[in-house]
Amino acid sequence: MGTLVMKFGGSCVGTTSALTQTLNIVLHESHQWERLVLVVSALDGVTDVLIEATDMARLGDQRGYRRTVANLRTRHVALAGTLPLEINEKAALEAEIDRLLLEMLNLYQDIANAHTQQEAMVHYDATIGMGERLTARIVAALIRQNGIPSVAIDGTGLIITDDTIGSATATLTETQHRVTSHLNPILDRQIIPVVTGFIGTDSSGRTTTLGRGGSDYTAAILGSCLQAQEVWIWTGVDGLMTADPQVISSAQVIPRLSYEEVSELAYFGARILHTHMMEVLREQQIPVRVKNFRNPRRAGTLIHQYNPHTSHVIKAVTSIPGFGLTVPLSSVIPTLEEIVEQVVKAVPPGHADVATSSRSSTYYAVYFLTPTAAGPNASHYIQTTLGSSLKANRNTQHWELKPVSIITVIGDYLNEVSAVTAGILQVMSGIPILALMQGPTGCSLSLIVHVEQSTDALNRIHQLILNSG
Ligand code: ASP
Ligand code: MG
Repeated sequence: MGTLVMKFGGSCVGTTSALTQTLNIVLHESHQWERLVLVVSALDGVTDVLIEATDMARLGDQRGYRRTVANLRTRHVALAGTLPLEINEKAALEAEIDRLLLEMLNLYQDIANAHTQQEAMVHYDATIGMGERLTARIVAALIRQNGIPSVAIDGTGLIITDDTIGSATATLTETQHRVTSHLNPILDRQIIPVVTGFIGTDSSGRTTTLGRGGSDYTAAILGSCLQAQEVWIWTGVDGLMTADPQVISSAQVIPRLSYEEVSELAYFGARILHTHMMEVLREQQIPVRVKNFRNPRRAGTLIHQYNPHTSHVIKAVTSIPGFGLTVPLSSVIPTLEEIVEQVVKAVPPGHADVATSSRSSTYYAVYFLTPTAAGPNASHYIQTTLGSSLKANRNTQHWELKPVSIITVIGDYLNEVSAVTAGILQVMSGIPILALMQGPTGCSLSLIVHVEQSTDALNRIHQLILNSG
């Protein structure tokens, strides 16, 4: 008993069969917990479509965004139509879907009519966060139909954030006040709130979004403000994996991880949990479970505080794209560092980052990573912008900029067990290592290799993980 926050990702709500499965989970857990809070994402693929439509509105493509709104209506109304809802509930849901879509059309209109980019961007988050608002209504209606009081709640009334467009950060004290005054009374009345993930409000009242995959972050924030016993993330996979299963077919589910390990995993490229999620939960040590909604009986991955029994074992390996810049050493290093910093900082959203830099008596080398969250254009942007800045600088004519892969091994206390590091280096024999670095929390070790050798390196290290498990 106690409070459980459960987040359902887009794949758990995107189809009738997925929704039925999700409903069964909610009904089951509603008997096990005193208080249940649900957080939902937009239906599968909807946020991508919304982002595209917002771009259409910015370009004044009225036919384009109207078509998108019509398609979204068809998808949501059709989904609602397949659910076993009573006639009044169905009619009310359809009316609510239409009301939100009309709101969306008006926002697109405002974007299309804006005189400046800045004016247009004011509504950016409100439009891309519409998917969650639609889902929450559908899920709440379905739960009510099954005899359990439930209500859809917009995260805009609960999650207070800074004003960063597209990837805001929550202000926990203010959010705590909202949760206490708005959410607790609902829970006291034994009603299940279905809260929209991903969206919040800044201090001026503008709708904000928490970055791609931000519904995880919403669940973590609510878990923390409600002092939940646990936060469960329901998804379409069995848990966090030892490697990206699309690259390494023998990847396996990791049963347990510490908060630090998960933070490193997210930072170094595992595309599963939002990067800010762990910061919020670690403080109160609220455990997280990542589970497959199609296989709810499987344990999934448990994320919790450091456990001595699971230490000293490497758990996962990731790969993230990046660049390596080498320049013959001259007296202009400060300028060079500034150029790199400027370019890397300008990558939207969530910045690229310098992974490591080193210098010898004759050369300066810097390696930086481009997070997956920065989008597919980030690498191209870095390559061209950095290239032209360097060309423009008289003192840096002989530079070389090459794509690299940053391979990261994750495992608690890697820094204390040199045998593990030695084992990793041993399996890498024959693959040139351009740079090597230990993460500051001691649970990651990154090796920079040529792109062509990335898969080979991943495979070798992954085999080591399987052998050591
Ligand atoms: N719908 C948002 C996204 O696709 C947020 C989320 O799913 O967590 O990024
Ligand atoms: Mg996600």
